[in-house]
Amino acid sequence: MLESIYKELILDHYRKPRNKGALEAPTVSVSMRNPMCGDEVELMLAVEGERITDARFTGQGCSISLASVSMMTETLKGKTLDEALDLERRFLALMRGEEESRKDRALGDLRSLEGVSKLPVRIKCALLGWNALDEAVQAIRKSGRGVMGATLEFEERTPLPEGFDPDEHKEDLPG
Ligand code: ZN
Repeated sequence: MLESIYKELILDHYRKPRNKGALEAPTVSVSMRNPMCGDEVELMLAVEGERITDARFTGQGCSISLASVSMMTETLKGKTLDEALDLERRFLALMRGEEESRKDRALGDLRSLEGVSKLPVRIKCALLGWNALDEAVQAIRKSGRGVMGATLEFEERTPLPEGFDPDEHKEDLPG
């Protein structure tokens, strides 16, 4: 039952992504690609001081990557950079399959992605937007300026586990 509700939530965010479209004057913009799946996401944040005032994205990809970034942008608005990084840590725990994180209310709709933790190849899809967020926060902290047009390959950040064969892992989620 919960599984089908979660699946519906993922599909809903995929079909009607929240906060999709370019931000007019982003403080920071980071593009990320997941060559494994062909997902591409550009995350744009408007930041005032330490607070994220707006978060939008453009891109294309599978249902997992787009639902994840759609849900992420919903939760980011109004959060401080530290709170955003805390949320990222909570989401990473969910992707590691940690029991506690499935009940983590701070994650909201993002908890619907818990099933991805059992699909190693799709974890990269789910984390695409979060890696962009991580880079964006680092860029702001480093320079106080945006990094317009930076393209970062997700593959270089988190290689697949040794001996992992993606062909052995058939997709069992839509998209
Ligand atoms: Zn994907």
